[in-house]
Amino acid sequence: MEGSETLWAKANRLIPGGVNSPVRSFQSVGGEPFFVERGEGPYLFDTEGRRYIDYVLSWGPLILGHANPVVMDALADQLQRGTSYGAPTAEEVELAERIVRMVPSVEMVRLVNSGTEATMSALRLAKAVTGRDGLLKFSGCYHGHADPFLVAAGSGVATLGLPNSPGVSEAVAAQTRVLPFNDLDAVAELFEDCGDQISSVFVEPVVGNAGLILPVDGFLEGLRAVTEAHGALLVFDEVMTGFRVAEGGAQERYGIRPDLTTLGKVIGGGLPVGAFGGRRDLMEQMAPAGPVYQAGTLSGNPLATSAGNAQLRYLEEHCPFEELEAMADRLATGMCAALTEAGIPASGSSAGSMWGVCFREEPVRSFEDAQGADVERFKRFHRACLERGVFLAPSPFEVGFVSTVHTADIVDETLEAVRDAVREVG
Ligand SMILES: *Cc1c(COP(=O)(O)O)cnc(C)c1O
Repeated sequence: MEGSETLWAKANRLIPGGVNSPVRSFQSVGGEPFFVERGEGPYLFDTEGRRYIDYVLSWGPLILGHANPVVMDALADQLQRGTSYGAPTAEEVELAERIVRMVPSVEMVRLVNSGTEATMSALRLAKAVTGRDGLLKFSGCYHGHADPFLVAAGSGVATLGLPNSPGVSEAVAAQTRVLPFNDLDAVAELFEDCGDQISSVFVEPVVGNAGLILPVDGFLEGLRAVTEAHGALLVFDEVMTGFRVAEGGAQERYGIRPDLTTLGKVIGGGLPVGAFGGRRDLMEQMAPAGPVYQAGTLSGNPLATSAGNAQLRYLEEHCPFEELEAMADRLATGMCAALTEAGIPASGSSAGSMWGVCFREEPVRSFEDAQGADVERFKRFHRACLERGVFLAPSPFEVGFVSTVHTADIVDETLEAVRDAVREVG
């Protein structure tokens, strides 16, 4: 009988796996996901009235927390004037202007509807301008779900332990070379071997889809040098790191200028948005300025651009990055200490408002390292935290986020809950 059916049972009957994106399922940690009733500041409230301190934050976009008045007011204002026009608006020009001003290497930008669209379009452009079909990516990096990137991908693919997805043809997968993150020697070797076939190197400059992995000194510089030497494009996938690890993303933090950059998440304020941009001479190849085709009925959507503009305007005016970094560090360090004190091997790290704790003693430098984590223990830890009102991503291969409304008090309350959870995890 439908009336007595739980929401989760109903979801499973109607939606594959009960969710509209695999990472939302609790498949790898066990149990059932909660259903959200509303978000407010640092909190989520579920349909049972339970409150969670939220470190998932819609998987990154909500850098000002849930339902921030800054964003809500901009949306309310736009809502009076309609939802979509299919014709240019001042808001999309404003968002482009902000992105160009804030992200050092971006001279021109095209707005799309998701990070997936951004990376697949950037790849098409890279292939068009170089006349090469190959692509190099790093294991554990996630660049959305377009075919050429679903090879040794991070995020949900890693969480579910899937090999490369069925439906990605051999011919497409064969164009993608995969190497371990932070292994510059391997990159140099590959380019010596077949550099003339590689259109582009895609990289999450700080990996956030295999847990948190920081680039070792010289890695990003090395990628810049080797791509330049071989006529390949360097593409920073900053869909997650953009406006998170620094105002201008990882390229500002590490002082590297990629040829192309992909963005998403924060630039949409919680509405569906992506973007790709970079060198003017490259971007001018995009239709209708140039011959490389890409389009979207809802691209530059006025609701999405008004929410994105509101968030970026706030970030530009208040520059909260030092505080965000301090909170992320306090959390990663505190959580790691709580685990270590209880005899549980753990390492913690943070970059800007992203943080990660891995159930493994040695610092993580690659996805191969991250796979050495104690997954069973993470599952118990995740459950114990959830029961104490702390929502962490339901996977050992995802990062945590903080927002501007995650105050020191909230973080300390979290660490209190974590210490209590650790006692149960053993
Ligand atoms: C989330 C993410 C994507 C995909 O973005 P969607 O909007 O989910 O399609 C691509 N690259 C990175 C680095 C991401 O974190």
